[in-house]
Amino acid sequence: MFNLVIFGAPGSGKGTQSERLIDEYGLYHISTGEVLRDLIARGTELGKVADSYISKGNLIPDDLMVSILADILDSNPEAAGGVIFDGFPRTINQAKALKQMLADRGAKVHAVVGLEVEDDELIERLVKRGKESGRSDDNLETIKQRLEVYHTQTSPLKDYYVAEGKYHAIPGSGSIDSIFESIKESLSTIR
Ligand code: AMP
Repeated sequence: MFNLVIFGAPGSGKGTQSERLIDEYGLYHISTGEVLRDLIARGTELGKVADSYISKGNLIPDDLMVSILADILDSNPEAAGGVIFDGFPRTINQAKALKQMLADRGAKVHAVVGLEVEDDELIERLVKRGKESGRSDDNLETIKQRLEVYHTQTSPLKDYYVAEGKYHAIPGSGSIDSIFESIKESLSTIR
């Protein structure tokens, strides 16, 4: 069993690399962003609450996000075989909650892959994606807010996972294939 966190700023390639990692390691994919966008698309009450944060580029409050994640873990037995967490945790509180949630289920985070990309490149990628994705948060104003949120609330997680000896820093520029090879090579030390 192997639980992996894929970590990085918006636009760093978490979703793209997750797709490859799922195949490589046979993991169950949980993208909290996708889960929230699905709730919004279905017009649920929870979706309406989520949309009020997402459309402004802000994070969903920790308590709510953690309870949504716990529900997903409990309602998907495949998750017990190993998960790739994509977009979660995004705060130190979420990381602590994840540690507890997994410990309660006899599991742990084995590794954190941190995709590191400069802000200028992130903005360029997200603006381009916005033209194709139709995502309400891929516009310049919201992108800048999401990067601000990343730097203030999410990036401190790097030190948290470095201290736990789990952080694998991966330069996130270059081709999708070469980045994937770097991830595999880095993880080969623990797999
Ligand atoms: P993503 O698809 O991962 O870029 O997430 C899109 C948006 O969903 C984020 O900008 C947040 O508003 C929200 N979101 C996704 N994951 C989380 C999380 N772990 N905690 C709080 N908000 C989240």
